[in-house]
Amino acid sequence: MSLSRAEAEALDAADPLARFRAAFDLPEGLIYLDGNSLGPPPKTALARLSETAASEWGRDLIRSWNTNGWMEAPLRVGAKIAGLIGAQPHEVAVADSTSVNLFKLAAGALSLRPGRTTLLAQAGEFPTDLHILQGLGELLGDRARLKIVPEAELLAAIDVDVAAVVLSHVHYRSSRRWDMAAVTAAAQAKGALMLWDLSHSAGAVVVDLNGAMADLAVGCGYKHLNGGPGAPAFLFVAERHLAAIRQPLTGWLGHAEPFAFEDAHRPAPDIRALTTGTPPILSLTALEAGIDLHLAVDRAAAEAKGGALSDLFIALVEARCPDLRLASPRRAQDRGLHVSLTHADGYAIVQALIDRGVVGDFRAPDVLRFGVSPLFTRFVEVWDAVDILADVLDSRAFDRDAYRQRAAVT
Ligand SMILES: *Cc1c(COP(=O)(O)O)cnc(C)c1O
Repeated sequence: MSLSRAEAEALDAADPLARFRAAFDLPEGLIYLDGNSLGPPPKTALARLSETAASEWGRDLIRSWNTNGWMEAPLRVGAKIAGLIGAQPHEVAVADSTSVNLFKLAAGALSLRPGRTTLLAQAGEFPTDLHILQGLGELLGDRARLKIVPEAELLAAIDVDVAAVVLSHVHYRSSRRWDMAAVTAAAQAKGALMLWDLSHSAGAVVVDLNGAMADLAVGCGYKHLNGGPGAPAFLFVAERHLAAIRQPLTGWLGHAEPFAFEDAHRPAPDIRALTTGTPPILSLTALEAGIDLHLAVDRAAAEAKGGALSDLFIALVEARCPDLRLASPRRAQDRGLHVSLTHADGYAIVQALIDRGVVGDFRAPDVLRFGVSPLFTRFVEVWDAVDILADVLDSRAFDRDAYRQRAAVT
């Protein structure tokens, strides 16, 4: 396929979602293809952050817990996220980080499946997911163990000892998107629960947790949801499990009556029991602005545009960059919003691109990742990014020592 730059511009002119670009504060001239790692700030998030800091924190002070909705924020924003992931409002809360939420829900899954001890995950899963499950297994001794199997063997490995299958809906490296309903059904057929990690799919692709009969889920606030660096994460517990699930991080704000100040923990009767301590109000304020923006977007149109952008990226790379190999599924419906390519000099290539105003990222040992967004990526930016990428490869501009010096964050 050889689409011209003018044709890419014509796609932008006809794009019904093009107007959302102006909702973001993106530096002029930068092509940002890393919203899958850190979403850019919505302008409303920046405005609400300074407003909340000045008036609610600065003037109303402690009264804000009652008068400015601070206490309800984790469930209010959770209910909004529910609208993006096919959940009911009372099934989602915002709390903690993805890592911590995974700990709570994996332990919660064990509480719902007494007698079962296996937490099943795929090799090459995002490290924190495996590390958290490993730590939980070490804590619980013979009551829990992490079993890691190759991706291709995952479904066959679900047996009657599996309490939960823990799986990224969209894989951080390959961008592979699992069929949520089919995998959930396979887990449940063996009596196991399905715990989805939506970090790379919430706000990125169509997610229908209840349509898929999912049991549990966690996800990240700072990637496609544009909640800001270190934004709080979210968790989902299907209504049918809310009464029975128990989690070990029983902090005071998960108590039925936090301000009764009782010595013994009594869990709240609702999703609040899955929260732990004081919510980060400023971060929640930014996240809520990101969620509000996503709720204004037609999800089906966003899914279609995301697929079209990443399809275009792949087609142009394959036409112009013969040294790069596609490491993501070819069909848009089998991918998330990022495309992974491999090259032995991947790190240096990404650094050379960043120097030329095209921001992607690198995942060791050899993966270059480029994420698109139906909200802020333009078709012509995809065209320009591949044009620059082809030039960096053809001219070997990446072949410099300075581009090989690894930074702490790649
Ligand atoms: C980004 C990501 C996380 C992030 O976890 P933190 O607790 O925010 O560091 C977890 N899991 C997956 C699959 C991710 O992609």
